[in-house]
Amino acid sequence: MIRQGLYRVFVAARASLYLRGPIPTDQAQFRWSRQAKNSFFSASLTLILVGCGASQPEGPYYETQAFQVDPVSSKDRKKLVQAATKILKSRPLVVGLDGRQKIIRQAHIARLPLVVLKAYVLAGKIHKPGAEIDILIPVSHGKKVPVTLITKTDGSVTILAATKTRSRARQAAYIPRFRNGDAQWSSAHRKTLRLAMSLLPKTDAAFLSDIPLSRYKTARDKRKGAVYLQKGCTAEIRVYNRAFDMDKLQFVGAPNRPYPASMRTVLHEVGHAIHSQPSRMAACQLQTQEQKLNTRIKRYNRRLAVARQRNDRRLAEQLETESRAIGRARKKLKSLAKAVESLMDRGPVLKAYQAATGSSPAPTVYGRSSLKESFAEAFALFRSDRAALKRAMPKAYEWFARGGHLKAADRQ
Ligand SMILES: [Zn+2]
Repeated sequence: MIRQGLYRVFVAARASLYLRGPIPTDQAQFRWSRQAKNSFFSASLTLILVGCGASQPEGPYYETQAFQVDPVSSKDRKKLVQAATKILKSRPLVVGLDGRQKIIRQAHIARLPLVVLKAYVLAGKIHKPGAEIDILIPVSHGKKVPVTLITKTDGSVTILAATKTRSRARQAAYIPRFRNGDAQWSSAHRKTLRLAMSLLPKTDAAFLSDIPLSRYKTARDKRKGAVYLQKGCTAEIRVYNRAFDMDKLQFVGAPNRPYPASMRTVLHEVGHAIHSQPSRMAACQLQTQEQKLNTRIKRYNRRLAVARQRNDRRLAEQLETESRAIGRARKKLKSLAKAVESLMDRGPVLKAYQAATGSSPAPTVYGRSSLKESFAEAFALFRSDRAALKRAMPKAYEWFARGGHLKAADRQ
């Protein structure tokens, strides 16, 4: 008797994104569609800053921690102008409004939009050199204005804002498969996910063709926003409630084309699906060969029983040869299983990414935890906020722009 399945390897991967920052207390609804021009100027000014404490990376990076900001209104203007005037003495300010950049002098401060003043005062309160923060500043009537705050390592500050947002309608190259887990997909969250998928060109979306998006309430680790799960040949992306919590506080993308922050979270998991793809394909191959071998072993065992029953010597001799052949096939399968494991640890995509980016640090603090997380963070930014990736990790930007991930995965 040859026992089946001894060589079966359990190959599973788990990669996930931890979302840092506070649970928002602000319950105001964020309306993407209407950021009225006048709200930009009639806005207010106190800020409350929640959360902190992450280790400071060196050089430019994209800040994923959420900041909770108090609503601003025109009655806050005087106080904000006073605070901003003080800050300007030590921290030079550049403001980019609708793409036009301007160095701000003392005389300009009183005329700055309230949300810009508010963001500048926030920059004065936090110590995050090198950060790019995509923050939503609440103004009147529950509206929120997206503002990008960039704190340079030399202390200077750049604030980007827009008086209008562009249409976000895009043709989706890919229709995601939604699956309900212990939670249900709401139509609003489906919409967000469809929008996230619309940022993927066909070549990227192809990696997801058999990976469903499952909706679950909470991960065992409550900080997780989403997770990429791979077990052998199958994979799924689980999206938790937590993924959408930050949408009230943060956005991703440019201020004139803001996307919900949860899109970055989901695209991060898409990044894991991409670098894991070669390992998954190999795992599928392993699975097929395992099944074939098991069938072969079953047949062998049946024939062996017959040979014994009939005392059939010729058949016994044939089976001897078959037994050796099974032994060889088993060995092959074991080495394939080992290859799958090493692909899961570091496949061709991660290797090429590392070769291209060298010793550059990841674009986010979280990305610095491992090569896999660096890749996932860089990919998510490449698809949702190219300018941010270009700033934080230019080598990764160039590599993705050249289709480096597709070439490495042998998809181009
Ligand atoms: Zn991850």
